[in-house]
Amino acid sequence: MSTVSELFSVLDQSSILIKKLRGMDYLEALCETAENIYNDVIKENEIRDKLEPLYANFFREGLTAEDIRRAFQLAALKGMKKSPHPNHEITPDSIVLLLGHIASLLTGDDPVSILDPAVGTGNLLTGIMNQVKNNQVTACGADTDDLLIKLAYANSNLQQKEVHLFHQDGLKPLFVEPCDLVVCDVPVGIYPDERTAKAYELSDVGEKAYTHFLFIEQGLKSLKNSGYLLYLIPNRLFAEDRDHHFHQFIQDKAVILALLQLPLSLFKNRAAAKSVFLLQKKGEGVKMPKQALLAEMPQFSDEQELRRFMLSLDDWFKHRL
Ligand code: SAM
Repeated sequence: MSTVSELFSVLDQSSILIKKLRGMDYLEALCETAENIYNDVIKENEIRDKLEPLYANFFREGLTAEDIRRAFQLAALKGMKKSPHPNHEITPDSIVLLLGHIASLLTGDDPVSILDPAVGTGNLLTGIMNQVKNNQVTACGADTDDLLIKLAYANSNLQQKEVHLFHQDGLKPLFVEPCDLVVCDVPVGIYPDERTAKAYELSDVGEKAYTHFLFIEQGLKSLKNSGYLLYLIPNRLFAEDRDHHFHQFIQDKAVILALLQLPLSLFKNRAAAKSVFLLQKKGEGVKMPKQALLAEMPQFSDEQELRRFMLSLDDWFKHRL
């Protein structure tokens, strides 16, 4: 059994036991499990004899934060399948790895501050933190969903990552310092809070304000000059920009570096398909790339094609200016 499957098995068995004992949801029990493990305290005295041996070999030699993230991701996915909820989505591992790789190319060896304004379970944010080369990472995340923000807290604690989490609307003012990198798997749809939307230039892109456009504006606002925005956006975003307000907004504020369409097979249906969107906020010394990287990514199952694509991606980053 691999380390990830062993860790998953501990999280899963413990969550099932706590779920039964407390009559709570699996995902809530997963949060309890994580809290027990990282605080090294078992709150469920009634089943201490079962939990203690399970937790005993969770932290082991050679264990990495990535092992824990992957195991936690499997447990979170299981919980989300058991009790589906429209908000409960997790950024899939293959995409986390791709964005993490791009983030590591962008940030090099420098200390880096990262924000995810719709952090969910923290799978994307911590996956990126695990891939950037410098250990000095400051990270912040926000989410409206109380269960998801609890999962993000449990997830980052278990991985021993310091993340400042805010249980709030990511489109309301965020009390964080301007950061080097903003990442997000953006929520898609119509944003219901008209008053908050009014503060955004991009609220007039459609007849009603679209959450996905507002998150791009919020991301750019939260960046330092010359910082990077690395987002997953719905493919239909550009088609929705009928009057080119978005296009003009981006031209004024940023430089488009890349737009990579992810393979359709990764998504439930065509309408849910997404692309990776990479911008650099304007600032001193920011140059236009010789050519923006616009591409359709190969199927992730086609290893040879994917390897070729990743080499050309690395090459583009090296020679982009
Ligand atoms: N990257 C996350 C992960 O790996 O778990 C998944 C993000 S999921 C695709 C989109 C998230 O946006 C959901 O967690 C949802 O609760 C959150 N969301 C929706 N509207 C929001 C808002 N106005 N402010 C903050 N978060 C919001």
